[in-house]
Amino acid sequence: MKHYKNQSGHKKLKAIITLLAFTFTSLLSFSQTDFLKESWHKQSEPLETKILNFEFQESSNQLLHSFAPWQQTHFSSSGEIWSNATNFSKIDTIRSNQDRYLSKTVLSEQDFLQQNYGKEQLELLTKLHFQEQIYLTARYIPHRLLSYLKEHHTPIERLEEKCAIYSVQINHTTVKLYIDKGTFLISKIQTLSHDELFGDVETEYTYSDYFQIGEFYIAKHIAIKKINGKLLDHVDIIHAKFTDSSPKLLERPSGYKLADEDPKVPSVSTSSYNEHIHLVELGHTDDRAMIVEFSDFLLVAESPLTSENGELIIAEAKKLAPDKPIKYFVFGHYHPHYLGGVRPFVQEGAQIIVSKHNQEYLSYIVNAKRTVKPDRLSLHSRSLQMELIQNSLRISDGDYSMDIYLIGEKSKHTIDYLIYYLPKEKLLFEDDLVWIPMEGDPKNVSPRQIGLYNAIQDLGLEVQTIIQSWPVSDYGVKTIIPFEELENSIKNLKE
Ligand SMILES: [Zn+2]
Repeated sequence: MKHYKNQSGHKKLKAIITLLAFTFTSLLSFSQTDFLKESWHKQSEPLETKILNFEFQESSNQLLHSFAPWQQTHFSSSGEIWSNATNFSKIDTIRSNQDRYLSKTVLSEQDFLQQNYGKEQLELLTKLHFQEQIYLTARYIPHRLLSYLKEHHTPIERLEEKCAIYSVQINHTTVKLYIDKGTFLISKIQTLSHDELFGDVETEYTYSDYFQIGEFYIAKHIAIKKINGKLLDHVDIIHAKFTDSSPKLLERPSGYKLADEDPKVPSVSTSSYNEHIHLVELGHTDDRAMIVEFSDFLLVAESPLTSENGELIIAEAKKLAPDKPIKYFVFGHYHPHYLGGVRPFVQEGAQIIVSKHNQEYLSYIVNAKRTVKPDRLSLHSRSLQMELIQNSLRISDGDYSMDIYLIGEKSKHTIDYLIYYLPKEKLLFEDDLVWIPMEGDPKNVSPRQIGLYNAIQDLGLEVQTIIQSWPVSDYGVKTIIPFEELENSIKNLKE
């Protein structure tokens, strides 16, 4: 009984403490500084009535379809921006090596026009592209994002020692705004979004060297970390001032409209070359994967762009041979059209054939987090199993066999390039090295095409037919190629 009484007294005390704590915190939050509003006053509000004009210099890096994984292509650009609260116009010229390309962007409250680098025509832009500009323009000035958060009464997410953090979801991207508690200026913006190849990708914009034009505050320097810090860009703002007018950079065509999203409808068709070789064509990506059937297992070669495409190919493999496991997955080189759909194969328990050139890159993709858009591997994790290829690798069931060769830089395309030879059929499968037009004579022969021919000669392979993975129907090139056509293209060159 005594024990019961004690407990009840304890409960009362607890209730009083909770009530006090509640009152205290609500008083605190009542008197809490509205960091967002303060920041908006300094970095956005003046643009409600004035046009800001400045020049900028930019250094950026991109992962294009390069020679080696993680190899960056550097660009430098300079341009000029005019912006008030609702309108944003940008003109800039990008330089890569000796080439220069002009681009123009015009954004308003409802509209978005863009003429991309080196293009004559306007881009086909969607409503999603328009909404992304709320945070993408923060690469130069973050006022659009600030106004968006203020208009949407975004609540504070948390307070850190130096910053107040606000978080908002724009489409599928989470945007976090860090406001300095002392200065009420934005110190950092982070976005988390989905990338088909790299999964969760964080971009971080850090603002420094703030200066004032009248009441308005603008950062002189913006450092941008992309793809979880793999790439680093810089923007420097110069000659910022208020101005009376902005130029009309682009003419809005009559009837111009932002398009709705157009999700590509997958189309899959599988044909059998013979009892061992099956070709899976993905119409929506213009790719061709190959399934090689052995007595008690399968090998799949190539899986383009996304985990969804990997699932489509696995479904085809299961239809062809329901009882045979996919023992191996191989990708001809690390570009997304061949490797992008690798993850479901890891989940299937396939061994992924890699070389020293792409082993780390593959591991990054397989181990990447996928919280924004989960796939089967992120939901049911399985460890990566790899089979390392040195110069060549034979896959065989004792009767039927396939040889994989690392031709690497001989491809003149990537350092990790593989080609597959099927001796029984005298067939060679490769990704994207041969460019022989369907009609007419080839005008010129690419270094890649010469590279493949030389590699075949060096390996002493007797090839009758070449099957290419990409493209299948775009670009008007042959993708099932009699070997003599490749040979003739090279001989014509020598003559
Ligand atoms: Zn490629």
